[in-house]
This record gives sequence, C-alpha cells and structure tokens, in this order.
Amino acid sequence: MTSLRLSTKASTPDPTGPSCPPSEWMFPRSRMPSTSRPFLMRLLTSVLVGCLLSLGSLSAVAQSDAPREAPPRERGDGPYDRLLIRGATLIDGTGAPPRGPVDVVVENDEIASIHAVGAPGGPINDAARPEGGTREIDASGMYVLPGFVDLHAHLGGTAQGTPAEYVLKLWMAHGVTTAREVAAGNGLDWTLDHSTRSAENDITAPRMAVYPALGTGRDAPITTPDQARAWVRRIAEQGAEGVKFFQAPPNVLKAAIQEAHKQGLRTAMHHAQPGTVQYDVLDTATWGLTTGEHFYGYPEALYTDRSIQDYPSDYNYQDEEDRFAYAGRMWQQAAAPGSERWNTVLDSLLSLDFAMTPTFGIYEANRDLMRGRRAEWHDSYTLPSLWDFFHPSFKNHGSYHYFWSSADEAAWDTHFDRWMRFVNEYKNRGGRVGVGSDSGYIFKLYGFGYVREMELLQEAGFHPLEVIRSATLEGAKILGRADDIGSVTAGKQADLVLVDQNPLANLKVLYGTGALRFNKDTRELERVGGVRYTIKDGIVYDARQLLKDVEEMVRQAKEAAGMPPDADLELTK
Ligand SMILES: [Zn+2]
Repeated sequence: MTSLRLSTKASTPDPTGPSCPPSEWMFPRSRMPSTSRPFLMRLLTSVLVGCLLSLGSLSAVAQSDAPREAPPRERGDGPYDRLLIRGATLIDGTGAPPRGPVDVVVENDEIASIHAVGAPGGPINDAARPEGGTREIDASGMYVLPGFVDLHAHLGGTAQGTPAEYVLKLWMAHGVTTAREVAAGNGLDWTLDHSTRSAENDITAPRMAVYPALGTGRDAPITTPDQARAWVRRIAEQGAEGVKFFQAPPNVLKAAIQEAHKQGLRTAMHHAQPGTVQYDVLDTATWGLTTGEHFYGYPEALYTDRSIQDYPSDYNYQDEEDRFAYAGRMWQQAAAPGSERWNTVLDSLLSLDFAMTPTFGIYEANRDLMRGRRAEWHDSYTLPSLWDFFHPSFKNHGSYHYFWSSADEAAWDTHFDRWMRFVNEYKNRGGRVGVGSDSGYIFKLYGFGYVREMELLQEAGFHPLEVIRSATLEGAKILGRADDIGSVTAGKQADLVLVDQNPLANLKVLYGTGALRFNKDTRELERVGGVRYTIKDGIVYDARQLLKDVEEMVRQAKEAAGMPPDADLELTK
C-alpha cells in the first residue's frame, strides 16, 4: 500500500506516543535494509506524528504508507468435513484440571464433540472412539488447549520495518488465534482490511478485534464531547469493535467512553501520565471503561500522602528515559498492599466489572535490560529493522535505555513486586485479568513476548491453569466473544493449540524456540516443545513451518542489508 492518507496516529502508538527528537534522527545509521522505503520520509513522518500525539494535539499529518500488507494465505490445511485429534490431554481453558486421553472431533470450523477414550497410561477404549474423519492427527502425548488471545497487540509498523506477514506468522506460530489490535496505528482501513481478510481466512492470521485510538482518521483534534460521540459512532459504523484511549480532556474522554458503551463498543485505555493528574482508573472505570492497559492510573488511584507523583524538578516527560525511570517508582509511592485504600480500589474496580491487561512483559527490560537485549530468539527471528528500532535512539518509542542504571533496575524490581501483587489479588477477588503482550517495542518480539507474559502472570502468583484461563477464556470474555471462542467446548469455533509437552509443568515449552532440557541419558542439552499445530477455524497450521517462514524472512532481510545471513545482531552493531 503506497497511498498517502490522513492519520492522527503515530506509527509507534504505544505504550505512549514517542518523544520528540533533537537533530540526531536526521542522520540515520547506514545499516538499514535496502528494501525499505525512503528512510527519511518514514522517519520524519513518524516523528512528526509522534510529537503531535505526545503534545496532546490531534492535528492532521500526512502519514506515509503502512507496512507491507499480508499476502494471500499459502499455509494451513483444511478446514475438514471431519478432523480428529486423537489421544490428547485436554486443558480446556475454563480453569478445569487437565484430562485425557480424549479425542476431539472438529467439523469444518467448529468443535463438534469431545470424547474420553481411556485412562492415562492404560489401553485406549476403542469402543469410545469416534468414527474416523477426513484427517486425523495422532496427538497421543500431546496437550490440546484453546487458541490464545493477545489482548494488547500491535500489527507492526513502518518504524519497525515489519511486514504484516512477519507479525502475523509469529503470532500464529505461538498459538495466538485472536489479537486485539489496540490503536490501529497503521490506519483504521488497513487494520480493518486485515481483520476482514483474517475472518475469511484469506491470510494466515489470528482473528482480530480492532480498537482504533481516539481521533484516528480525523483531521482536527477532538475538543468537545459532541465531536467525541460523533467520532465513536463513525468508527462503529466502519467496523471497529472498540476504542483505545491514551489521554483526552476529561469531558471528551467521558463522552467517548459512554458513547462507546451505547454503541456496543468496548474500550481499552493506557492512562498516559499527562492525563492521570486529572483522572485515574477509578474515574475512567466509573465512566464505563472496560479494560485498563499497563499499570498507569492504578498507583494514582492509590495515592494517600500525595496527589501527584514525586517528579524531580528536572523531569521531562518527552525524555523517555525520564519517563520510564520514574514510572518505575510509582507503586512505591502508592498506598501499601493490604491498606484500606488498597482494598477500596480493588473492590471498586471489581464492582465495576473492570478488566486488567497488565502487559508486564513490555516493561521487563526495565528491571533486567540484559535479559531483554540478549533474548535467544533475536538472532534467528528479529528483523534487522526491528532490532534497529529497539536500539537506543532519540527517534523511536521505547528506545530509551541511554544509561540505564542498577538503581533503575532495582526500583523497577520493587515496582513489579507491588504491581504483581495488586494484579494477583484482583484475580483472587474474582477480577478479570487478560494476557496482552504489547510486543514490537522495548526488545519484545511478537509471539515470544506473549509466552513471556504468561510466565510473568505465573510469577505474579497465578496458577498455570489460571494463566491459561487468562490467555483463553478470560481473553474471550473481555472481548465479548466467549460464546464463540476461548475454551475447548463443543459448539465453539475450532481455535486450538497442540503442543507435545505439558505447558502446566513449564510454560516455556510454548516458545517457538522451545524449552531447554538436559537429557540425562545422552548428556546433551536439548530443546523440547514449541507449539506443534495452531488450528484456527478448523484450519491446521504447522507452527514450525510458520517459524521457518519467519526465519527465512529474517535471513533475506539481513542479506538485503548487507549482513551475513546468520549474523548475530549484537555483534554486528
Ligand atoms: Zn500498546
């Protein structure tokens, strides 16, 4: 797609708009893929849009084209008249304990029936087995789960240099069969087009729920409640399922949330800090906000000995290192766990049926920068343009680790402890928590970042069954789609994940690179797991093939950039 269009959204929409750069960005480093679009144009546009956004303006800016759109689907077999998945252990997504062996019957795009066919380790009860189908998968020794829901997803961007195919295949290779696109940073039409083509299975892609950022497509800022309501009605007509908010004047925000509710749209908000001095998550949840992204807005609701965060006098929000360093000191300023205010906030959110999408993972580099930078999948699966995007610079959002310190990491570690306790307690009180990755920023890679988010929910105190439930049924409920997806239940759409290791024993087996295990017989270190099949709408995708496709895209991009195809990204820096 090369057409110019008007957009008020940055190509780097989140966790909040990027910072305004000094002059360094006029001199890009030379190692850009030669296949990329004119770099300066892309950069200039991204930066201009980002600056306007971060200044709270919604003026029109001509944004250059969106990333390369997904090609017609060439992967995946089916759907089948009758697909049989035989002998698997079922983790159904509701939180119910695993059971198996079972045979799962899929007819076309729907789960038709589930049959217990024996006791584990014992002989299969042939009489209990359903009749043969047009395709059978021998899943003995495998685990079958519902497809995963990524509640905080961005379909790449021009700044990252990520073609849609790259992002979509990484998601599908990790079992993500539904993605909530929060911001539609590549434009509403482009994103809705991918959503439609995915629904028709014309492309290899998860189902999508599109939540454009407030003001997307407008050529002037929204300044009145009436304008907000009109904008919400328009995007509802266009096919959006929800709205993503960052910040807005309180009366505009309230009107937009309430209109969205009236139109049957859902809402997600990253409570950007310039706005949270005027409203916190209790305000927005009371106005009807359905999900809170990240952590902003909660500590502000928990301040009891201050009303504004303790910003140092030389703090500057547009310096992302400032922004993220001091964001990691917010929970320490909030009311203590177990305090009266702590309980009031949790119980109030619960009574409003509010849902949380913590996206712990996207902030993880702040407590352990080396872990983020040196993740073992970068070398094979991270595009050089995306690696460039991650690298510290003044130009890109989330590329702020200029001189990240041991003190910053220590503060973030404490910040995480409080935040995780808050989220875990919310879950324990009956609150909804979903899994959202926010990948594509701050060293987090699509798909891989989703599995890491599951691990971090476990670290927060979730039982692995609670993690899986958050990733599946809770995600579907938060989207309002639980009648169709989110659990392995007869009558629901056939969105399934098959893995040959037990994810309850080790969530790491869901990574495309598998989990490391020392084989005591061979005395060799081996990799086990990795999603084997991702099934969406009854179409069976070989997850390993999807990963191979991505690996090949990365090799080609490196060649085009004049790098050795197996180049270690860090060493070539
Ligand atoms: Zn985001």
